[in-house]
Amino acid sequence: MSKKLDRIIVIDIEATCWQAKPPSGEESEIIEIGICVLDPWSKKNIEKDSILIKPIKSNISDFCTKLTTLTQAEVDKGISFYEACKILKDQYLTDRRVWASYGEYDKNQFQKQCQSFGVKYPFTSQHINVKTLFALVHSLPREVGMAQALELLNIPLEGTHHRGGDDAWNIGKILSKLLWNSY
Ligand code: AMP
Ligand code: MG
Repeated sequence: MSKKLDRIIVIDIEATCWQAKPPSGEESEIIEIGICVLDPWSKKNIEKDSILIKPIKSNISDFCTKLTTLTQAEVDKGISFYEACKILKDQYLTDRRVWASYGEYDKNQFQKQCQSFGVKYPFTSQHINVKTLFALVHSLPREVGMAQALELLNIPLEGTHHRGGDDAWNIGKILSKLLWNSY
């Protein structure tokens, strides 16, 4: 299938987490996939989405709710990881489009979970690491977090940090600024 350059799909995941190690028998799983669709023609974010996923190998800890605001009741209403990957492919054409995320974490977690769940990896190999790109463009000695990158660009952080949809939207703005000096 040919590569499509009509959009960049920005992804930010949230996953079950704990202050230290997971309780025995549990493992970190994706509970939210935040999506921001970036349009290279208008050079702007044009769509935001959040897919909630019901975890099956772990529970939402108080620590996780404090970090993400997501509760067990909320994610219990979510869909399966398999269904979420199907939406990425069918609705957002992630198996043909370039995608982006902040750092390596989202990509690594997707690869790990796809393997562990026996689900086909929904993305192309065309991945933009916005965190590395930001540090290189600004000649920084080391990479910085998303909130700090926004601050350095004088772009206000919109929404709730550590919610996938809002994080993806803010990362979309950083990428847009880096690629086209937009925003
Ligand atoms: P973020 O995109 O920065 O909201 O982080 C994505 C995921 O990384 C979160 O949903 C957590 O699973 C994990 N994470 C982020 N920050 C922390 C932290 N301080 N302690 C433990 N896990 C974290
Ligand atoms: Mg996030």
